[in-house]
Amino acid sequence: MAECLVAFLLALLVGTLVEYWAHRMMHGWLLRKKHAEHHKEGVGQGWFWEFLDYFLPTLPLGAAGFLYSLEAGIGFAAGATFYAAFAAYAHQLQHEHPELCFWLVRPVHYLHHKNHMWKTNFGISIDLWDRVFGTYRRVEWQREQPFRFRGLFRIKWI
Ligand SMILES: [Zn+2]
Ligand SMILES: [Zn+2]
Repeated sequence: MAECLVAFLLALLVGTLVEYWAHRMMHGWLLRKKHAEHHKEGVGQGWFWEFLDYFLPTLPLGAAGFLYSLEAGIGFAAGATFYAAFAAYAHQLQHEHPELCFWLVRPVHYLHHKNHMWKTNFGISIDLWDRVFGTYRRVEWQREQPFRFRGLFRIKWI
């Protein structure tokens, strides 16, 4: 059971860290053109397609977890699925209703887009790694819309 929990938490840690570095590298050489298009369009693809983008890269690591032990494999697969679902939601929500991102002090990804930040605020689901690696940029942020609980479910799902 302990192995399962450790693997679950490890998947969250690895997922958010890879998200940070992959996005940071997209402002360098990785899929630069595709990412520049995303910045130009300024919309999410819909939760399901975002989920696949976050989930598929975790598969090789998930397989490695199963090679280690069944418990570790299950824990990592569950953590990776949870992470991908959350990251996909966080991305979509910040593109549609940034004011509803209650778990962040400021919706970093929304601000990353809005202020055309090419060197800061690379986090999407959380802002921890921006703070760790010194790329967190505090900008003035005020909720333009009131918080509406129902809005949390009103995103483009597919
Ligand atoms: Zn970006
Ligand atoms: Zn985006």
